[in-house]
Amino acid sequence: MARIVLKFGGTSVGDIDRIRNVARMAKAELDRGNEVAVVVSAMTGVTNQLVGYVESIAPLYDPREYDVVVSTGEQVTIGLLALALQQIGARARSFTSWQLPVRTDEAYGKARILEIGTEAIVAAMREGVVAVVPGFQGVGGEGRVTTLGRGGSDTSAVALAAAIKADRCDIYTDVDGVYTTDPRITDKARKLPMVTYEEMLEMASLGSKVLQTRSVELAMNHRVRVQVLASFRKGPDGAISFDVPIGSDLPGTLVVDEDEIMAKGLEQSVVSGIAYAKDDVKITVAAVADRPGVAAALFGPLAAANVNVDMIVQNVSLDGKSTDITFTLPKSDLPRARAELDKAKASLGYRELTVDTNVAKISVIGVGMRSHAGVALKMFETLAAKGINIGVISTSEIKISVLIAADYTELAVRALHAAYGLDAD
Ligand code: ADP
Ligand code: ASP
Ligand code: MG
Repeated sequence: MARIVLKFGGTSVGDIDRIRNVARMAKAELDRGNEVAVVVSAMTGVTNQLVGYVESIAPLYDPREYDVVVSTGEQVTIGLLALALQQIGARARSFTSWQLPVRTDEAYGKARILEIGTEAIVAAMREGVVAVVPGFQGVGGEGRVTTLGRGGSDTSAVALAAAIKADRCDIYTDVDGVYTTDPRITDKARKLPMVTYEEMLEMASLGSKVLQTRSVELAMNHRVRVQVLASFRKGPDGAISFDVPIGSDLPGTLVVDEDEIMAKGLEQSVVSGIAYAKDDVKITVAAVADRPGVAAALFGPLAAANVNVDMIVQNVSLDGKSTDITFTLPKSDLPRARAELDKAKASLGYRELTVDTNVAKISVIGVGMRSHAGVALKMFETLAAKGINIGVISTSEIKISVLIAADYTELAVRALHAAYGLDAD
C-alpha cells in the first residue's frame, strides 16, 4: 500500500469525459489498496477567462479581489471530480483550501504555502475515501482567499505530498514527460527518463512550464518523488485516447537527485534542455544619474509593489554623469511597474522610459556545464549563424540565457536543440 498524490492539470480535466477519465484513474489507484489524494486544476481555459474578466474591469486590480475571482475555477473541478468518483462507486469528498486549510502568506496572486492542515484529509484517506483538493488556492493569515501564481496547482500537489508524507506525487498532464525542449516547438524534442531537481528548477523558471518552479523547489527541499506523466494520448489524427498506463515506475519522467542518475550509470549530457519564455517585457530607463543609490531607488519601489525583476544590465556611462539601465519583468506586472516608475520619475530624473514587449528569453540548461567549457560560445555562434541578435545575457552555474526578438523564438530553439546534439534521430 502506498500513499499517493495525483495531480491533473487543466487539459486533463478539460471536459466531462476527461473528468470521468481522471475519476477512473484515481479509482484504479484506490482499488490497488492505495491511499489517494487528487489535486486538480480548473478546466482548461477557465482561469484565463477569469483573469480576463478581472483585467477588463480593473487593469490595476486589487490583488485580493483578483484571487477571489480566479480561485473559483478549481472549486468547480473538485466538486465535479468528487461526483464522478461517487458515480463509479468510489467514496470521495472535496476539501476546499480553507477546509484543510492550506495556509499561505498574504502575497495575493503569488502566495507561498506556509503550512497544510493534514488531520482531516489523512483521516479520510485512511478510511478509503479519495480526497479531492483544489490546486492553486490557499487561505492567507487574514482569512482571505489567496492564489499561488499561474500554474500553481503543481505546487499545491507537491506541498500536499510533502505534508502528508506521500510516497509519490504523480503529475498527470498533456505530455508524457519532461522533454529536452517544449515538444510544441519541435517534434525532434526527446523525452528525458530522468531529470535532476536542479535542472528542472532552472528549466521551469526559464519557461518550461510543464512544472511550476516553486513545485520543483518544494520537491527538492522535501525530497518528494515527482513523476510527470500523460493522462491521455493524442493520435496522429488528433483523436484522444484514455488508454494510458497508471501507477509507479512508468515511462514518464522522474525528477530526482543527481546521485540517483549517477547510481543508475546514466550518462549526463552537458546540456539537457532548451527553454524559452515570451512572457517578459524589456524596459530601458534612459539617462538616469550615474551615482550610488540609483539602482536601489529604481528597483526599491518595484520590489515594494511585488514586481519580480529578472535580467538587469547597466550600461557604462559615456559622459560620467548618466547611464541607461535595462531590465526585464513579467508582462502581467507591466501596468504596476509603469505606475511605480512614473511616480519615481522626478526623484530618479531619467530622460525616457521605453518598453519592448516583443522579446523572448532563450536558455540553455545542463548540470554538465559546470565541468565543460565553450557551452556559451556555442550558443552565441549558433544564434549568430542564424542572424539572431542578442540583447541581454545572463548566466548561472548551470544555465545561459539570452534575450532576443520574440519573432526568432522557434528558429533559435530549434537551432540550439540541434547544435547541442539534442535532436531525436
Ligand atoms: P497542465 O495544465 O497539465 O498543468 P501545462 O500546460 O501547465 O499543463 O504544462 C504542460 C505543457 O508544458 C505541455 O503541453 C508542453 O507544451 C509544455 N512544455 C514546455 N516545456 C516543456 C518541456 N521541456 N517538456 C515537456 N513539456 C513542456
Ligand atoms: N488554474 C491555474 C492556472 O491556470 C492553476 C493551474 O492550472 O495550475 O494557472
Ligand atoms: Mg501547469
